[in-house]
Order: sequence, then C-alpha cells, then structure tokens
Amino acid sequence: MKKLLAGLLFSLPLLTVQAQERDYALTQIRILTSDSLHGRGYVNQGDVKAARYLQGEFARIGLQPLPELKSYLQSFPNPVNTFPGTLKIFYNDTELQPGVDYLLSPESAGGSGKAKVVQVNWSNLQRIKASKCRDRVLMADPGTTKNKDSLSLFWRTVAPLNREAAVFVSVEHGKLTWSVSSGVAGKVLIELAAAVPLKYGKPRSLAWEVEQKAEPAYRSQNVIGMVKGTIADSFVLVTAHYDHLGRMGAATIFPGANDNASGTALMLDLARSFAAETPKYSMLFVAFAGEEAGLVGSRYFTDHPPVPLKNIKMVYNIDLAGGGDKGVTIVNATEYPAYFAKLEELNTRNGWLAAVKKRGKAANSDHYWFSEKGVPAFFMYAEGGVTAYHDVNDTADKLPMNEYEDLFRLVRAFLGSL
Ligand SMILES: [Zn+2]
Repeated sequence: MKKLLAGLLFSLPLLTVQAQERDYALTQIRILTSDSLHGRGYVNQGDVKAARYLQGEFARIGLQPLPELKSYLQSFPNPVNTFPGTLKIFYNDTELQPGVDYLLSPESAGGSGKAKVVQVNWSNLQRIKASKCRDRVLMADPGTTKNKDSLSLFWRTVAPLNREAAVFVSVEHGKLTWSVSSGVAGKVLIELAAAVPLKYGKPRSLAWEVEQKAEPAYRSQNVIGMVKGTIADSFVLVTAHYDHLGRMGAATIFPGANDNASGTALMLDLARSFAAETPKYSMLFVAFAGEEAGLVGSRYFTDHPPVPLKNIKMVYNIDLAGGGDKGVTIVNATEYPAYFAKLEELNTRNGWLAAVKKRGKAANSDHYWFSEKGVPAFFMYAEGGVTAYHDVNDTADKLPMNEYEDLFRLVRAFLGSL
C-alpha cells in the first residue's frame, strides 16, 4: 500500500535505501535461523550462541553496553525441559516424522518401550475402564469440537485413564504448534497429527525412544545495547525476543524465522539507524531471551531493571515482522490512545501499511511486564503472508518480507516523534 505518485520524484535514491535495509534484515534472519544457532533454544545452547552473535552485532553497529551491566548481557535463570538426542516414535511399526506427524508435549518425560494402544474417543468415553489402560499407550481423540464444556468433560474423563497408562497420546485435529516448558511430566506425552491414523490405519502398537533432559540450572541472557541521547537519563526501549523453541530431538529444528528472527532483524536495523545520530532520548535496544518459555527474560529485566523503570518513556516491542500485507496490530493501543493516534496518523499520512489496528492488553509478548509496572509499552505484530507459527515450517525462505521497508519507516518515524 505505497503512495506511488508522491514518491516518484525521489524514487531512485529511496529505492537504494530500501534495498539496503531489506538486505540487511534478510542477512540477519538467515544468520539467526541457521542450523548453527539450533533454533535459538536450549539444545546445544542455541540461545547462548545467538546471544554471542547479537552482542557482536551490537558492537559492530556501535551500540554501547550499559555501564550498570558492564557488558551487553543480562544473565538470568531459565529452567527448561529439553530433548537433546534420540527421538523415535513408531506407529504400527512405521517410524513417524517428528514435527510433521507428531510433537512431543513440551513437558514430556523421556524413556523407551513398546505397548499396545487403547483408543478413547467420544464413542467409547464412558465405557473404557482404567484397568484396561494399565501400561498401555492411551490415545485420546477429542474430535474437532471447540466447545469448552465438551472438551473439559472429555479431558476430565480421560484423566483417571491416563493415570494408568505408560504413554499418553492426544490427537490434534488442528495444526501442530510447539512450545517450551520449564516443568516435566511423569511420562512420555505425544501430540499426534490427526492425519496419522488416516494414513497408517487404526492404531495397534506404539514404540517410543525419547531422550529428555531437564535443565533446572539453565541460564539465558538478554542482550542490551545503548545509543546515548541528548536527554541521556531518559530512555526509549526498542525490544524483540531472539529466543525460539530450538531442537526437538537432535534432528528436528524449529527455526523461528517470523517468530522472531524477523523482529530481531528489524530491531537491529532500527539500532543501526539511531546509532548514526544523537537521538533526543537515550535508546536501549533489547534482545530478550526466554520469551517462549513464558516471558522469562522480560520479567527478569523489569524485576532487575538496569535503568530505573520510571526513566523509561516508552517500550516498543516487535514480535513477528516477516509479513504485513494486512498491516499491523498494536497491543496496548487502547491503554495509550495518544501514542496510538500518532502511529495511525503517521501511517495514514504516508500510506505505508494497509492498516494499523488497535488491540487492548494481552500477556502475549515482552511488553507485558512493562505496562503492568506502569511503563507505556506497545507490542506490534505484522499480519498477513505468513501461516507458519511455532512449527518446523517457520523458515527464512518462506518469509514474504514484502512490507519490511514500510514497517521500518513506520516504527522509525514513530520513535523519532517521541
Ligand atoms: Zn514470539
């Protein structure tokens, strides 16, 4: 949604700048999603390696470490459950493909074995005896209902059966969507794609080999860099989480290109732009860790703020920036209507994005702890063009990046107007 006529006169130099910004972001996304960073999760310390890369990039851009921290890194405890090695699931003696046919539940335990499968669904829910499930694989299929009462009844009835089972399999009729857990369950837990029984027939047996490792003492790092402003002791924060889900078993990687290599790249690109001048307020660029594990890094930051929270004018958090042909949504827009009006006005005047939509409070990214503590905070996510989310398909080559320059311009202009 660009304004064509007004831009024509200046189109040549502008296009050059555009290409550089987008190329820079694409390079960063390719690096952040490369196998050597292991999906920026916990297997092989992918997130620690990503932090190391980012602090190098911060230095190269010209950001300064905060004197209060003496380095770019703010370390914090981040206990996580991991699957670092062997992962094999055989359904009726056919090996399934991890990430495509199934996921381990993030809190799954490890172990190995083989057992017969007991199926439970709406047709036999009230008839199955718990004793029949003892040491078996319990495969529960709640069907496609979205009704909360029905689902609650289903899982409540399944719970005593599951207590007897050796392994629990839940059938997922929607898309497989992975996550991270700090806790560990008592058995192997599997989320099976509903396509598997259709493809390989009625379940008879399941064999499993799951290497799992709880990491109760794991530590992650926020990466923080500064551009000093004219009003040095007031801060504007630009934030994006760089962690993702990492590896599920040694061979399966969740690259997290849209979530949130793309937002991290946009944050770095904005840092480059602000580092080239002296902004009005000091700017802090914060790459948060532990977001997918429950907003752990941003919570630590607000509990142990390296600069006083009352000196922070505004937090602009970016999470999901690879698409955008349907525009952006701003979480907390209704909390800070004057800031939202400014953002909307900038977009309308310049014709950048298709829409700047408003949304209320939501605990869905790193802005959350800031606004809970009274610091004005926006969370911007782009919409349209990307369907992958927390799955193996969130790869760099699938990102459209077709609205990237306009996303950059909008955020740059808004931050410059503060
Ligand atoms: Zn995210």
